Amino acid sequence: MTANLTKQTDFDAIIIGGGACGLMCAVQAGFLGKRTLVLEKNDKVGAKILISGGGRCNYTNLYASAQQFISDNEHFCKSTLSQWTVDDTVSFFETYGIIGKEKTLGQLFPESDNARDVVKVFTSLCADLGQEIWCDAEVKGIEQVDNGFIVSLERNGRTENLSVPKVVIASGGLPIPKMGATDFGLRIAKKFGLKINDTAPALVPLTITGKDQPWYEQLSGNSIFCRVWNDRISFEENILFTHWGLSGPAILQISSYWRPGEYIYIDLLPNQSIAELILQEREANGKKMLLAYLANLFTRKFAEALSDKLPVDKNLASLNKTDLESINSLIHEFKVKPAGDKGYDKAEVMRGGVSTDELSSKTLEVKKIPGMYYGGECVDVTGWLGGYNFQWAWASGFVIAQGL
Ligand SMILES: Cc1cc2nc3c(=O)[nH]c(=O)nc-3n(C[C@H](O)[C@H](O)[C@H](O)COP(=O)(O)OP(=O)(O)OC[C@H]3O[C@@H](n4cnc5c(N)ncnc54)[C@H](O)[C@@H]3O)c2cc1C
Repeated sequence: MTANLTKQTDFDAIIIGGGACGLMCAVQAGFLGKRTLVLEKNDKVGAKILISGGGRCNYTNLYASAQQFISDNEHFCKSTLSQWTVDDTVSFFETYGIIGKEKTLGQLFPESDNARDVVKVFTSLCADLGQEIWCDAEVKGIEQVDNGFIVSLERNGRTENLSVPKVVIASGGLPIPKMGATDFGLRIAKKFGLKINDTAPALVPLTITGKDQPWYEQLSGNSIFCRVWNDRISFEENILFTHWGLSGPAILQISSYWRPGEYIYIDLLPNQSIAELILQEREANGKKMLLAYLANLFTRKFAEALSDKLPVDKNLASLNKTDLESINSLIHEFKVKPAGDKGYDKAEVMRGGVSTDELSSKTLEVKKIPGMYYGGECVDVTGWLGGYNFQWAWASGFVIAQGL
């Protein structure tokens, strides 16, 4: 009979989700003398922190600003990001023993290269500050009552109903379901009539099917520094050919801006002109075969793969204007129409989510439901690859804590 009784708790808030946002929120609330309970569905907290950045956790980006976040309202994240800045992230972790080292493009990782150290900061601080964490506790629902909320959860095979004045929904997005990702945040938003912006996998590899697929497959494993663009954005980083399509940082970045049916464009030799390079080379070495020249510029495998698209068996001296034009357009404007993406199993984040229209940009409180807050990946704020998503998660956790 205990199953359906509601227990009045003395917590100031219940935080649903022991991920980046929820853990930061619990710690910051603790600093302010507030007591919180973190409910985590998995048997341990911080599962995504542990696998992030290949187990090394790219925990922020030195250049983070509102420009690297995608949202229906591009201004929404500004207040949160200014209340908890990159410097705040860096000094917070430094205070608790994590020194950052920049790998590339402002991406900061712990010097130890160990994401466990990041999670340990939060579990130690929660213990020191008396913030409770219950693992294996899956929240099933939230009811709004006169003095707050009733949170229903399942723990040890039993249903428990906890009454609390405030709730924080930090249950993350849909990527990697096998690691505990749920649609809880979206389900609750729907139940309370909050607008949800279309969700889709983002920072995700793109697939190629049909007659073009074997071409990509033969190049599997080849990585090339490129500029990848569409009509919205452009990124200069590596792309990686795989047996099912394209991956690598530049592809993950553009995937967040790609919609099914659209093309993406790839400059395989950014900031140089292949036509000019060939004209220079043929002055000195006109007998050189185009194949050998391209193999030198790229890889042999890549040059060979171009044999069905370019006259690679001609020598440089015999290339005519039309040849040079087709080389130029293939190298500098390689056109790709992905069939789709690898889905939530391979995506790093979810794009879309709870509409920012529903939240106060200053506090992240749901405008029409006082005492309910949304943070982290549930919200329609999606960062680029490179530590931006954690910066948003830490910052939103901090901001919510100020209001509890
Ligand atoms: C493979 C991979 C690598 C990544 N690497 C990076 C990186 O290096 N840098 C970066 O900035 N970002 C990275 N990200 C993105 C980053 O992990 C997320 O943006 C971030 O974790 C979001 O934080 P969050 O707190 O909103 O959600 P999460 O960290 O996902 O936490 C949500 C938590 O809520 C729990 N939960 C869900 N539903 C319930 C429920 N009903 N009841 C109780 N608990 C529930 C989940 O189990 C989870 O622990 C990576 C993502 C992936 C998948």
